Amino acid sequence: MSTAIRPVLRTLRGMPASDGAGVKLTRIIGTPQLPDLDPFLMLDEFGTDRPEDYLAGFPDHPHRGFETVTYMLDGRMRHKDNKGNEGVLVPGAVQWMTAGRGIVHSEMPEQEEGRMRGFQLWVNLPAREKMTAPKYQEYGPEVFPEVDAAPGVRAKVIAGEVAGVRGPIVQPATEPTYLDLRLGAGDRYVHALPEGHSAFAYVYEGSARLGEGPDAATVQAHELAVLGAGGAVALEGREADTRLILVAGKPLREPVARYGPFVMNTQDELRQAFYDFQAGRF
Ligand code: MN
Repeated sequence: MSTAIRPVLRTLRGMPASDGAGVKLTRIIGTPQLPDLDPFLMLDEFGTDRPEDYLAGFPDHPHRGFETVTYMLDGRMRHKDNKGNEGVLVPGAVQWMTAGRGIVHSEMPEQEEGRMRGFQLWVNLPAREKMTAPKYQEYGPEVFPEVDAAPGVRAKVIAGEVAGVRGPIVQPATEPTYLDLRLGAGDRYVHALPEGHSAFAYVYEGSARLGEGPDAATVQAHELAVLGAGGAVALEGREADTRLILVAGKPLREPVARYGPFVMNTQDELRQAFYDFQAGRF
């Protein structure tokens, strides 16, 4: 049996953006060049040594209808919501927050100097789960298995499976894969993924070759590769200490009505989200 290697459909760089109370970040998914990649609605990379880029943080703001996934690489971020949940994300921690019917929270830096670096990914929820009760899957760095995926290739398994080892995050609606991979020049790995899942790789240090043959592309640091159909992803490091995230999920194929922090299926539901938020019903 042969497994088709996914082609690289395109590569792109993110765009500078500002969010929250003025945090500087790079938006990679969720811009005119790549509005979404069903079920993924947004991908932000934040990474800076300059406190003035992050100190303002993300004061109280609402979410409804989807999930926010924060993966910290460096720095510490305190989150606090209107349901009484509070915690600090440390380097290597992941918070997979299901906003469901509504949450109001803040995400504020727990440091006044030093580097702040990580990702926030937005994952859509299907219509039947948009109004579900909010919940968290939040784990410290020690919880995520690290696996030798292939010689020279180390995988941190946040969601999905590598070499029979599963990550702790569970989301049956979109069956996400979220791997943080580290590899050296010439190290190769082929990762099996469900055929129909949307998939991308984002290189954040070094560079890597994604795909195979004429459909391959070299992806530099801070570039995203959109992967096409196929049963597996082939990758090869091009530099020492190359690091990338490989993310995939089952597309929902539902209409998307989104505005700011609300992501619903129809304009009516979007209006309802505004009313409910303003009436304090989150
Ligand atoms: Mn938020």
